[in-house]
Amino acid sequence: MTPPEVIPLARPVIGDRERELVDGVLRSRQLSLGPTVTEFERMWADRIGTKHAVACSSGTAGLHCCLHALGIGPGDEVITSSFSFVASANVIVYTGATPVFAEVDPLTFNMDPAAVEAAITPRTRAILVVDIFGYPADVPALIAIAERHGLAIVEDACQSIDGDFNGKKLGTYGHPSVYGFYANKQLTTAEGGVILTDDDALYLLLKSLTNQGRSDDGAWLVHSRLGFNYRLSDVHAAIGIAQIERLDWMQDARARIAARYQARMASVDGVTPMYEGPQRRSWFVYAPRLDPDLDRDAIIGRLEAEGVSAKPYLPCIHLQPYYRTDHGHAPGELPVTEEISASTIALPFFCEMTDEQVDRVCDTMERAIQAERAA
Ligand SMILES: *Cc1c(COP(=O)(O)O)cnc(C)c1O
Repeated sequence: MTPPEVIPLARPVIGDRERELVDGVLRSRQLSLGPTVTEFERMWADRIGTKHAVACSSGTAGLHCCLHALGIGPGDEVITSSFSFVASANVIVYTGATPVFAEVDPLTFNMDPAAVEAAITPRTRAILVVDIFGYPADVPALIAIAERHGLAIVEDACQSIDGDFNGKKLGTYGHPSVYGFYANKQLTTAEGGVILTDDDALYLLLKSLTNQGRSDDGAWLVHSRLGFNYRLSDVHAAIGIAQIERLDWMQDARARIAARYQARMASVDGVTPMYEGPQRRSWFVYAPRLDPDLDRDAIIGRLEAEGVSAKPYLPCIHLQPYYRTDHGHAPGELPVTEEISASTIALPFFCEMTDEQVDRVCDTMERAIQAERAA
């Protein structure tokens, strides 16, 4: 028997336009600090409606720069979510500050504003908001809390590219927001990110921090502050421009595939489809929940044996080996987060997925669950 075709978890759309723009940059010999990065930044600022956009080498770099620019450092606490990719907590540790994890809402999987407020101490300096699985956090409620307690906000919108809350784009709420462009994101530059802000002073500081702390007047060998090399190259920006040109199409394709998944999974016994609430989700992953009696690892094994890629996604940050050993975290601290994290499963999800592939994933899931229940 020939083994079944493997359906990957993610697969970027790369076409002639990406190749053409990358080739143009290569021919120009202007591989970094060139006009392509500037154009990429302008396209983001125009698309989202912010005054500024600062391209950077990754979403992680962008988040780190924002916290550094706000002066977060040793002795400070930053409240964030443990139901996220590890980078959003790591950037807090990079600054010397301590991440404090607040419980999430059982439906949206984003931080519960009441839990955030309860986690505030005299050392709290900021809230690092995450829009997980592309569903926007309750940004207005978190802003109100931050204002009441004099805290800063940085938003990790890496999984919510082009997302909005109540129709207002993430990035336009008055605090710096970061998108990430790793290859599995809604839009990719291979590696990369962008910080969105309306604040002129913060913009100049971020431009300097991402570029070795060079002075604002652009003098090449004058370093006014401790900076980083967090620049995005023009080669990567060229990929990004081609991707922005097709972003509407890519987002529509993701939403269409998600709709087919949601409809099919609704009738699969043992699966809870993804939450559909009042806000629009920017579709990043397809990660429904399995009933708690089901052995997720066994189901993943059965799916993979039939060529359907799957992963337990996301593991809690506070239960990662590093956060247990170096930060003293342990199971039981965040029951809601831990329960969600134990039940969500990422399935293949990408723009060029066919209806037949979605159906194959759903059929395989149905068979895997039946076989598990019978075992
Ligand atoms: C992708 C992602 C990031 C940033 O990742 P990079 O690989 O550094 O671009 C940060 N936070 C979340 C939640 C992410 O999904």
